[in-house]
Amino acid sequence: KAKRDQNLYEGLPEGITLGRKMGDGAFSHVFEATLRPSPAQLAIDPTMGKQVKVAVKCVRKFELNSSQRANILKEVQIMRGLNHPGIVRLLNFTESREHYFLTLELMEGGELFHQIVKLTYFSEELSRHVILQVAHGIRYLHEEKGVVHRDIKPENILFESIPIIPSKVPKHRPYDEEKEDEGEFIPGVGGGGIGRVKIADFGLSKIVWDQDTMTPCGTVGYTAPEIVKDERYSKSVDMWALGCVLYTLLCGFPPFYDESIHVLTEKVAKGYYTFLSPWWDDISASSKDLITHLLDVDPEKRYTIDEFLAHPWCKAKPAPSAVT
Ligand code: ADP
Ligand code: MG
Repeated sequence: KAKRDQNLYEGLPEGITLGRKMGDGAFSHVFEATLRPSPAQLAIDPTMGKQVKVAVKCVRKFELNSSQRANILKEVQIMRGLNHPGIVRLLNFTESREHYFLTLELMEGGELFHQIVKLTYFSEELSRHVILQVAHGIRYLHEEKGVVHRDIKPENILFESIPIIPSKVPKHRPYDEEKEDEGEFIPGVGGGGIGRVKIADFGLSKIVWDQDTMTPCGTVGYTAPEIVKDERYSKSVDMWALGCVLYTLLCGFPPFYDESIHVLTEKVAKGYYTFLSPWWDDISASSKDLITHLLDVDPEKRYTIDEFLAHPWCKAKPAPSAVT
């Protein structure tokens, strides 16, 4: 099967051998792969070894219209400028006649989405461990790069390694803060435990003009007020999404759901959600307070990333710093 894939993707980047499939996107397939470094690369960095495991996102060109193609190039351009432990790294970009190939840092543990499905829900401790890493990634994007991701969701948050989650951990019900302090489980970054998570998929991301950063969009003097205003709010879409992810982690289902897309849209527009009993009964008041500040329909009142990180719930335990 891997062999067939290898043949299917004519013009793969040099040294790439495709392995199993890791995931699917709208116009792409993502494969695990090995990269055999070229002699030149080995000469520069002998520590690279003979083979490196990577991920390759293969995007089918022929299904894309010209603006979608432009978006892929924008995704690549934005990713090239990013360098943070909370963000999946882009290692290389090439194209053939039929495909774009994004060689990415391999995230062997797969989607956060699958882990939620598998575990039903996360303990507060594990949720904090995961969400803080995502938040540090977002802080880097918003505050240092002027980038809005615009597609934060459990499918786009990936585990670096296959997470080892002791089965007793998510069973902290009713929620008992003392139990958390007993240190039954201390999540580790790296070896063992649940490890590191990173933000992937910059397909919808955008650079925004920002007063505080280095004005990535250039001339500001000619920008219309509605654009300036829009862009001031655009970071807040990531914060709303972060609130949805946190909600989902803690209870196992999303804050907004309905079979009918019309009803769902209405619920989101009104910000109509609840901390449904009995599922939320034993979850801390502090986490609910935090979620309330994220799922605020008024983008001006909604927490910014710095307000999020300063909230007591985030401070409850020594944060596994995303910077180390
Ligand atoms: P799309 O923009 O089409 O959603 P993504 O970049 O989100 O494409 O990739 C689709 C899926 O492929 C992801 O949800 C994930 O399951 C998997 N995937 C993406 N990047 C990686 C990676 N670096 N390592 C492992 N799996 C990945
Ligand atoms: Mg995606």
